Amino acid sequence: MTARVATCHCGLLQLRCSGDPAKISMCHCRDCQRRTGSLFSVAAFFPREGVALAAGSAQSFRRPSASGHDVTFHFCADCGSNLWWEPDRMPHLSGVAVGAFADPNFPMPEQAVWCEDRHAWLDLPPAIAAHARNPVKRA
Ligand SMILES: [Zn+2]
Ligand SMILES: [Zn+2]
Repeated sequence: MTARVATCHCGLLQLRCSGDPAKISMCHCRDCQRRTGSLFSVAAFFPREGVALAAGSAQSFRRPSASGHDVTFHFCADCGSNLWWEPDRMPHLSGVAVGAFADPNFPMPEQAVWCEDRHAWLDLPPAIAAHARNPVKRA
């Protein structure tokens, strides 16, 4: 089975992700802009049981999200990199920061959400399904 390691900026915090991501998604929301310091976040959602801490220890930060469900973010206490997060809305999946794999061959996202907050100059490849907000499926 494929295993990938996501590593924080300083290298102390490492996360082993087994198998292939169930979904890869980019998010342009303002929370992701502020969280990453970049213009968007790219998340690989792995089955939660396939995501395990391989080195270091993480601190966490929990906040509500636009879906009405909280998200818990885990980050390196030394360098502050946010490596992965657990959305209450998707209790079977963990989002992992794709940049933390530092792998230019990582598969591209299939969707982009919160495009209404996307920076005006940023064009996406047509293969990425763009949603103005997050198409939350409510039960
Ligand atoms: Zn670190
Ligand atoms: Zn976002």
